Amino acid sequence: MTTMSRRAFLRSSGVGVGLGLAGGCAPAMKGDFAPKRGPRVVVIGGGWGGATAAKYVRLGDPAIEVILLEPNKQFVSCPLSNLVLSGVRSIDSLTFGYRGLRSHGVRIIHEAATAIEPDTKRVRVGEGYLQYDRLIVSPGIEFQTEQIAGLAEAGDQVLHAWKAGPQTVELARRLQAMPDGGVFVLTIPPIAYRCPPGPYERTCQVAWYLKHNKPRSKLIVLDANQNIVSKTGLFRAAWRDYPNIDYRASSKVVKVDTGAREVTTEFGDRVKYDVVNVIPPQRAGTIAVQADLVGADKRWCQVDHVTYESVKHKAVHVIGDSTIGLPVPKSGTVANAMGKICANAVVHLIGGKQPPAMPPVNVCYSWVSDKEAMAVINAYRIEGGKVVQIEQKLTPGQSQAFGQNALGWARSIWNDILG
Ligand SMILES: Cc1cc2nc3c(=O)[nH]c(=O)nc-3n(C[C@H](O)[C@H](O)[C@H](O)COP(=O)(O)OP(=O)(O)OC[C@H]3O[C@@H](n4cnc5c(N)ncnc54)[C@H](O)[C@@H]3O)c2cc1C
Repeated sequence: MTTMSRRAFLRSSGVGVGLGLAGGCAPAMKGDFAPKRGPRVVVIGGGWGGATAAKYVRLGDPAIEVILLEPNKQFVSCPLSNLVLSGVRSIDSLTFGYRGLRSHGVRIIHEAATAIEPDTKRVRVGEGYLQYDRLIVSPGIEFQTEQIAGLAEAGDQVLHAWKAGPQTVELARRLQAMPDGGVFVLTIPPIAYRCPPGPYERTCQVAWYLKHNKPRSKLIVLDANQNIVSKTGLFRAAWRDYPNIDYRASSKVVKVDTGAREVTTEFGDRVKYDVVNVIPPQRAGTIAVQADLVGADKRWCQVDHVTYESVKHKAVHVIGDSTIGLPVPKSGTVANAMGKICANAVVHLIGGKQPPAMPPVNVCYSWVSDKEAMAVINAYRIEGGKVVQIEQKLTPGQSQAFGQNALGWARSIWNDILG
């Protein structure tokens, strides 16, 4: 292990969650460790989707008991975490507790769900289980490490920093420690992955940092996709300020060699690095895969577009990045919207009522420097039971005013999720 402690790394990588390393003040978890006395919703995952859903079920009907399973004791926001790499923000400024949810009567158990049993409506937690009437699953993404040779063996020598936390801080430290004249390599997976514009925002933040602190250094971006997949023209325009970016499309990385300090693309190009950041291909959170909520490709979960109920298992709803099939990006704004819509649907279903058809919304800001941002907004409606996009609008360019709007968006949505 390098500078990151083993415990911190285990927590950030998700390894060891089932071993109880994340701690928590759960009751002794054997058998039915919290017998159900009335209608109950269990939520798996206290991130952008799950925390929102837990709060809004309670707001929708305080007679429903809500139990949230989340191994981490703190919520760390991925949005704005690319600014930790440039040193513009601290990770502490993106870290929040769960006190607000408790004040709404959400019961939080800091443990991971280890299995879902749809037939008996039980969630397993170690040796015990919880009974539910409706289950909401929002476990985010997991990495398909096996798709890049050498990545699993590399351990924390190769960071993703795609779940905000200790890896983000460690990647920022490696960037700062890189000598002037060094090469930073960032690799982007094929879509679908969490936050389509996120890697290009990261490109801007790393390039901005290098421009101001290591002017002889460069950033090589190896993108598995044929072009920038989101806000294409806006990012191209922003990159005119960063001649230190060497962007290479259609360059899917298939191998990493930490001894030679190089990555290899599917066409055999070998690229040397001083610091590397590999964002691996992704799939739904492991619990969703184990519970057979994913499709034949074993990657993502198909859901009903009105209730977010799984197409595979009754009374199990899936929201956030783990879902596929709606014309929406895997964004925090969308996960938050799905959390509210799903909560409302679940409250209606438990009350024996027809849920209303409500479309989600998407707003996504990208920071292109320390102060300037740009944005895309998507509007949707529901037609014939399916979510369809009716409008997409981009900001005309980047500006400090949009940066201020981005900060306002973040404060407001963090409060909506956790406040
Ligand atoms: C660098 C970066 C920048 C981003 N910027 C933006 C942005 O500007 N705007 C935007 O809208 N989106 C942004 N996103 C995307 C956003 O972070 C995600 O879309 C959002 O977090 C998805 O929410 P979720 O609930 O699906 O997953 P998460 O928020 O990741 O929550 C999943 C939770 O489930 C928990 N969990 C997993 N398995 C279990 C289990 N078995 N039992 C219990 N709990 C479990 C995890 O610990 C985690 O807390 C960004 C992402 C990244 C990486």
